[in-house]
Amino acid sequence: MNEIPVVAHKCKNCGKIHYPFHDRCMNCKAREFEATKLEGNAKLLTFTQIFNLPWGFDQRFLIIGVAEFENGVKAMGQIAADSIDGLSLGMKMKALWKPVRVQAGEKVYGLMFEPIQ
Ligand SMILES: [Zn+2]
Repeated sequence: MNEIPVVAHKCKNCGKIHYPFHDRCMNCKAREFEATKLEGNAKLLTFTQIFNLPWGFDQRFLIIGVAEFENGVKAMGQIAADSIDGLSLGMKMKALWKPVRVQAGEKVYGLMFEPIQ
């Protein structure tokens, strides 16, 4: 099982989940949160291709997207696809924590979304 070490913050008062962290709940202004994981599949909300990559990427281009998890958390990650042709908004994505690039010989891990066929 691939566990994603990204933590979201659930309001102890009203249950709204925040990611990234906010000092006060955006719904009820409470200040106490409990850590909660990103779990389950995600729904693709938007995506784009980046062709002008910074140093450290071997790929010619990257596809990145924002997806919403079943608990309502929205997160940005890389999309494991050869082109955007097969992608569509609202499609289900499997979320994985994988090496997304190599920097100075070291793997850099990040969020990776894999389309579920
Ligand atoms: Zn709240």
